[in-house]
Amino acid sequence: MSLAGKSALVTGGGSGIGASAALRLAVEGCRLAIVDIRKGDAERIAALITARGGRAVAIAGDVSLEADNERFFDEAESALGGLDLAFLNAGAIQNYGPFDRMSIAEFDRMIAINLRGPYLGLRQAHRRLRLGGAAVVTASAAALTGFSDAAGYTAAKHGVVGLVRAAAREFASRGLRVNAICPGPVATPMIGAEQQDSVQDPSQLGTPAYRGELSPQMVAETALFLLSPAAAAINGQAQLVDAALLSAFPPAP
Ligand code: NAD
Repeated sequence: MSLAGKSALVTGGGSGIGASAALRLAVEGCRLAIVDIRKGDAERIAALITARGGRAVAIAGDVSLEADNERFFDEAESALGGLDLAFLNAGAIQNYGPFDRMSIAEFDRMIAINLRGPYLGLRQAHRRLRLGGAAVVTASAAALTGFSDAAGYTAAKHGVVGLVRAAAREFASRGLRVNAICPGPVATPMIGAEQQDSVQDPSQLGTPAYRGELSPQMVAETALFLLSPAAAAINGQAQLVDAALLSAFPPAP
């Protein structure tokens, strides 16, 4: 995929999809800055990469804060000698609950992490990524259809797709591409044990079309493709990566 020698920043790189992407980018020959609010997790992934002969630094940061974005992009640039790629992947879903019982504070937090975070990250990426660079933002299948009991998260992820479409037009003048990936349910720590069981059991979600076997690695592969020069003709798109979930279950009205 011609990613060798590139420098990449991955947010939420301490776990799940972000950790898988960081490990794969290292295998492709990228230098990594792994950013996570849980520094210990970022350090664990950076240590794995270093132990395998790669180059990675771990940086603590909260993507919802402007000052943190400025700082972790600064630190990544200095540690890696510039940046080519940004995988703005950190996100969280904190409370599943009915529309009218979610507190306003919970709603605001979902927007801050899942929408303001990517916006702040893209502001930095626009300014700092080298010519020919690319950014990918992790949205969700919940960006393309309504999921119940997750209104704040769903609204934020829909917003991410709009953000990416707007950014793609403006970033093109700097020779940068911006795309979104929209994963279906993946068994990662984010979605909790109960949901993980149903994700792993295809019969529960089951039509034959939906394989129910989406792994963080499978999602990471799509992110790598969109970051790579192989996707040079793809810009401003929201790529669904859902093991055919939405083709098996029609979108909500
Ligand atoms: P995960 O919990 O394994 O990883 C998320 C990582 O982001 C964690 O390491 C966490 O510490 C970090 N993080 C959370 N809030 C942060 C913040 N404010 N600042 C910096 N780091 C923060 O979950 P995952 O499933 O790998 O999630 C990655 C992305 O994929 C998220 O954007 C999520 O919304 C999206 N997603 C996940 C699923 C799924 O089913 N797991 C489906 C669709 C989209």
